[in-house]
Amino acid sequence: MSRFRMYPTPAQAEQMLTHCAHARYVWNLAVEQHSHWRRGRKSAPGFAEQCRQLTEARRENGWLGAGNVDVQQQALKDFAKAKNARFVSGFGEPTWRKKFRHEGFRVIGADRVPEYSEDGSPKLNAKTGKQVMGRSVVVQKLNRRWAQVKVPGCGWVRFRLGAKGKGAGLPAAKTFRVTFRNGQWHIAFAVIPKPIDAPGTGEVIGIDRGVTITAALSDGRKLNCPQLTVKERAQIRKHQRRAARAPKSSDRKTAEYAKVAKLKAREANRRKDWCEKTSTMLARSYDVVRFEKLNIKNMTRSAKGTLAEPGKNVRQKAGLNRGILAQGWGLLRRRTEHKAPGRVEDVPAPFTSVRCSACGWIEKKSRKSQAEFVCVSCGFTCNADENAAMNVAAGQGGIPRPRRSAGAGGVTAATGRSSAREPQPTWVGIPLF
Ligand SMILES: [Zn+2]
Repeated sequence: MSRFRMYPTPAQAEQMLTHCAHARYVWNLAVEQHSHWRRGRKSAPGFAEQCRQLTEARRENGWLGAGNVDVQQQALKDFAKAKNARFVSGFGEPTWRKKFRHEGFRVIGADRVPEYSEDGSPKLNAKTGKQVMGRSVVVQKLNRRWAQVKVPGCGWVRFRLGAKGKGAGLPAAKTFRVTFRNGQWHIAFAVIPKPIDAPGTGEVIGIDRGVTITAALSDGRKLNCPQLTVKERAQIRKHQRRAARAPKSSDRKTAEYAKVAKLKAREANRRKDWCEKTSTMLARSYDVVRFEKLNIKNMTRSAKGTLAEPGKNVRQKAGLNRGILAQGWGLLRRRTEHKAPGRVEDVPAPFTSVRCSACGWIEKKSRKSQAEFVCVSCGFTCNADENAAMNVAAGQGGIPRPRRSAGAGGVTAATGRSSAREPQPTWVGIPLF
């Protein structure tokens, strides 16, 4: 995907917001049609049937007919794609789109270009034998920094090219998607970039993801995902406080919440940027990248409990969850997989943090603290996260062996709890805000 920041004029922005509204309306109609389906009923209309219905609806409703037909049809196409991919996409059934939250629309290129098959010969229609013409978006490079794209009803809209490399060649895409979030417009061309080639050195890297150190690598490097500064966090709290004190549904309340959203968007952007750069680095410099297998959804489950049985340490757990989600663990794994398909492996997580990477001994007491690892069996000393990363690189956490006695240095008193138990994450200091 190649995504750029867009800078429409106020008039263009207004027109594009109308496109967003139409696309959202059509999408939600499709969601509603499909929500009525039950087992045994006639199937909900498919893409072709929906397009016919759209033509009818455009004739009957003047405001819908005044909108761009391609934008509305592409919303149906998006819906059909989302519906088909509901079991594999990870997003499930397509759901409602909300105003202000899901603003965007897809544009199909207006240019017609001849299509070629992979061996370079022109693609011909099987029936007529004519050349197949594909779609292509109309893009123009203005200079080193800027380019422009044709958006229906808006004419040329300018977008800013990225730093070196990214803007070197304009993407040859059939469609693009325009989105509006947190007061910013973005354009994303639908192209799948080529995977990054393996360096061919046979090097394997293990990555241990944590809260205090986002990614500890088995070669000893410690990478940290940038977060909001203390000052920025204080600003968020300030605006939240002001919003809470502003009268209900006042302009001031909206403005304060918009400021909060802007700061939070900044944090998310920083995280994404870091994940992109780190995953590219990993895909470029190592043949095999091993992550420990984490179930982030289960790890960040709420501790709230039920009304009858309230949970313990709810605030602390909420803070930990926030800390975990702020690390972008899932995104890093996902993006590395995209860039290095087939070269990313998952290693079972249990015991990676308590196993000695030198001798393989599993002992909870080896982990002296958050950062320190001293093996009770062989005396190997290392940073705890680095030790875990080396276990991940080796591809194993070990076999769970609850032991009642220490292997070296005498017998430990029997406790009910296994000494091979993973340390629980609650005592890691997380900034609460
Ligand atoms: Zn050891």
